[in-house]
This record gives sequence, C-alpha cells and structure tokens, in this order.
Amino acid sequence: METEISDLGEFGLINRLTKDFPITNPQTKTGIGDDAAILSFGERDVVVTTDLLLEGIHFDLRYVPLQHLGYKAAIVNFSDIYAMNATPRQITVSLGISSRFTVEHIETIYAGIRGACEIYGVDLVGGDTSASVTGLVISITCIGDVGKGEEIKRSGAKPTDIICVSGDLGAAFMGLQLLERENAIAAGQKDFQPDFAGKEYILERQLKPEARRDIIELLRKEGIKPTSMIDISDGLSSELLHICKSSEVGCRIYEDKIPIDYQTALMAEEFNMNLVTAAMNGGEDYELLFTVPLTAHEKIEKLKGITMIGYITKPELGAALVTRDGQEITIRAQGWNAFREDNVSELSS
Ligand code: ADP
Ligand code: MG
Repeated sequence: METEISDLGEFGLINRLTKDFPITNPQTKTGIGDDAAILSFGERDVVVTTDLLLEGIHFDLRYVPLQHLGYKAAIVNFSDIYAMNATPRQITVSLGISSRFTVEHIETIYAGIRGACEIYGVDLVGGDTSASVTGLVISITCIGDVGKGEEIKRSGAKPTDIICVSGDLGAAFMGLQLLERENAIAAGQKDFQPDFAGKEYILERQLKPEARRDIIELLRKEGIKPTSMIDISDGLSSELLHICKSSEVGCRIYEDKIPIDYQTALMAEEFNMNLVTAAMNGGEDYELLFTVPLTAHEKIEKLKGITMIGYITKPELGAALVTRDGQEITIRAQGWNAFREDNVSELSS
C-alpha cells in the first residue's frame, strides 16, 4: 500500500529517506539532523547547509519585493551556519526561472543576494540556472567554517542548563499576517494604498530578517560557550523539541519570559490572535535558541538582546510551557509542516 507523505510529515519523511545512508567517510563528522553538516578536512571544520525556496510555498511575489527575496534567501542560510557557531564563507545559488521573469527581475534578486553577501562577508562561488514550468525556485547552499571543537550542535543540552533566546519572537509571523491582509484588501480595489505606519518593525522582520552574527560574536567575546544551539526558523516550539530530542532532555519555559516586541503584541490584538501562540509557533524569526550551563547565569543576565526563558530538565519531565498562572502545557511542534495541507499557505520556513 502506498503511504501518504502527510502521514509521515516532513521529518518523518526525511528520516525514512535517509535511514539507509550510512556515513562511510571519516571526514563526515556530523551528517543529517542539525542546522548544518560538519565535515573535517584540515585544521578547521567545514559546515554545509542548503535551503530551497519555492514561489507559492515560501514566498508570494504579490507582496514580497524581489530584492528582499534575494536578501532573505541568503540570510536564512547564514543563520543555519551561525547556529553551528560557525562563520559563513561561500554560497552557491541555483535558480528555476519561469518565462514571466525578465533579466531585470533576476538582477533585482541578485542585488538582494549581493547585499547580504557584502554585509556578512560571503562569496558567491557557483550555482545552476534552469527554466521552470511554473514559478520561481531559489536554492542556496552555504559553506562555512568553524574551529575544531568550537561547533555547537543541537545535542549538547544538559539538565539544569539555562535556555536562552536572542532578540524577540513572533514579529515575522505578525508581519506576514499583515502583508496577507493588506494584499487581500488590495485585490478588491484599484489604487489601494496599504497603511503600514507604525508597523515597520514587524514588516522588516518578515521581509528583511538578519542572521544573528552579532550574538555569536557577543557570546565569544564574553567567553560563553553554549552547550546546544539551533536557529528559530520553524517556531520556538518546534526548535525546542529538536534540542530536547537531540539532547535527550526535557525543558520548562515560562510564558512571561518569552521576549515579544510591542508592535507584535499590538498586531496580535488587532488580529484577535493569541500572542503566545504566535511567538511559540510563528516561525521565521531567525533568532538563536541556545542553552548555557547554570554557571553562566550571571554573565548572561547582563547581556543585552539575550533573554533567559527557562531551563533544561531530565527527559522524564517532558517539554512544557509554564503559563502565567503556573499551569504546565505540553509543548507540541505546530511549526511549519509542508505536507500538512492546512499549513501550506500559512507559514513558511
Ligand atoms: P533547517 O530547518 O535547520 O534548515 P531542516 O529541518 O530543513 O533544517 O532539515 C533537518 C535535517 O534534515 C538537516 O540536517 C537537513 O540537512 C536534512 N535534510 C532535509 N531534507 C533532506 C533530504 N531531502 N535529504 C537528505 N537530508 C535532508
Ligand atoms: Mg536551522
């Protein structure tokens, strides 16, 4: 009998497809299962990650400017490299282009990619270009490097470690809600001008995210080495569960500690959405989620832009969110699952 892909889900599918690929080269230190693979060739290790963006699934060109699209496509890869505590160095860019795009359109995407490369010091070293029957496809592979033993994986969290997150959460998701609403209104009217005043931050978080190189540098400067780390592409819930699963631990995080920007809160109220749900499951924040030993508490407390949201527990205790009134709610991944039909147009990764 044939199996529906939606029965397995994204991660179930990846596991099933890749389970019969043993690692045979001594240079392959870490294969599938982290933000990037780690390869060992010389004095430093090489990290590799790749991301695929499809028009209609990951982006909607009715409201995403092409230059922003190029920028974001590069940034999401850099973010995965930083999440390994590594530095992005090179990218390759592969494109599938349908006939409705002009040379100038593609140049505009490349202007965005170039901007990201300049800011993060990354070289474009290759790619592939093809015609596409429907829509635009962008696939970027990023290569980075990290000192031996400096890499940080999802698997190193230990009970009593403190769980930290950079920046704030849920803003990119609320930005997307706003863009979709304004786009729907615009479709019915001529000369419609969306009103984005006072909503610049959430729009920027959706359209022009940054990778948290600054946080990696700050932690290094302060002599703090996280025990585990992941970037938040699919939502805090989903990423926390990845750390818990890889590290074989549980966790408690506190609702009132989750960092949320004022504009995000206002927008959630306007949409009558649960703010914590948006912050836990929204995704596309590209912040770093990491754990540090309890001994780093004092140092972390003083750092701007990093919030302690909870702690790691023994695995038996499971993963839970502690609400403001002290109730424990089991954390479930409601992040992006491309193969669940109700999710297809809702979130992207
Ligand atoms: P991220 O969200 O950090 O980009 P993903 O959730 O996309 O990571 O992927 C999880 C892991 O599975 C990664 O190690 C990735 O390289 C691997 N992976 C994803 N898709 C495939 C595939 N089709 N074949 C082999 N490995 C894959
Ligand atoms: Mg990642």
